[in-house]
Amino acid sequence: MSLIRCTNGHMFSSRRHRNVCPYCNVMVEQEQRSNGQQTTVDVDDKTMPYLGEMDGIDPVTGWLVCIEGPQMGRDYRILSEKNFIGRAEDMHIRIVGDNSISKRNHAVIVYDPKKRNFYLLPGDASGLAYLNNEAIYTPTELAAYDVIQLGGSMFLFIPLCGVHFEWENNQSEE
Ligand SMILES: [Zn+2]
Repeated sequence: MSLIRCTNGHMFSSRRHRNVCPYCNVMVEQEQRSNGQQTTVDVDDKTMPYLGEMDGIDPVTGWLVCIEGPQMGRDYRILSEKNFIGRAEDMHIRIVGDNSISKRNHAVIVYDPKKRNFYLLPGDASGLAYLNNEAIYTPTELAAYDVIQLGGSMFLFIPLCGVHFEWENNQSEE
């Protein structure tokens, strides 16, 4: 299989994204692949990505920025369509260190590339998600600098795509 895992635990397709995690931009050393051959590769011999090649990158559409909680100061990339939030390794937006955030699907942030807007959806976990201090039970449209509370952590929502900006070629047929 071409699934690989970054140091933050995201699983992604190396065929599509090469060795750069689309969620956190961490580069993954693929040494478990060539066991036996290149065990002497060290930090001073890192393979750099080709800067000209953009085809493996899933463009960022916005960010969540933690402004309160164990991850204060950290930002999380929001990609197109559904972004599942939780503590588990396979979550698109993985928030560790706050055990009052559910492991899986505490909430979902959606970027709709057709309508060019963002929504916050309640997850199917037991924890509530709050938008500007109101618990959300139905999909609710997000605006810039909205405050999202999950467990004991607060996040600012910062959009990139929308009325002011959109990536040109995101109509890639899959
Ligand atoms: Zn990652």
